[in-house]
Amino acid sequence: MSDLNSLYQEVILDHSKRPRNFHAIENADHRANGSNPLCGDKVIIYLHLVGDRIEDISFQGSGCAISTASASILTETLKGKTRKEAQVLFEAFHKLVTGQPMDSAGGPPLGKLAVFSGVSEFPVRVKCASLAWHTLRSALDNSAAVASTE
Ligand code: ZN
Repeated sequence: MSDLNSLYQEVILDHSKRPRNFHAIENADHRANGSNPLCGDKVIIYLHLVGDRIEDISFQGSGCAISTASASILTETLKGKTRKEAQVLFEAFHKLVTGQPMDSAGGPPLGKLAVFSGVSEFPVRVKCASLAWHTLRSALDNSAAVASTE
């Protein structure tokens, strides 16, 4: 295993054991539930938007290490971002975990999201890593529906 892979695994383990922004937001103006029946992962994403900007974001739920770490890193990454920036990152993240080539222009800087690059080798885990992102999209749409990876 390469040093990079073990570093990535450490970050994922750290976020799964000590998830960031792991609480409800009182009076959240957007929220959505997500579920990945394949693995049993469940997540709730809470958002507080000011205009077009994600002023505050948090999550709750239970699931495997990958789904918890992904939700934790998502909240860390998206706090302070606009809807548009969140959408661009969603698309880049989706390409990363499904093993599609990135934009030739390079796309947005992935930062910590890069730790999920190894997930593309494990198709079952792609849904675990993507759950929080699908749920985020539902929350931004303010959809009352439950986001599902199925
Ligand atoms: Zn999972």
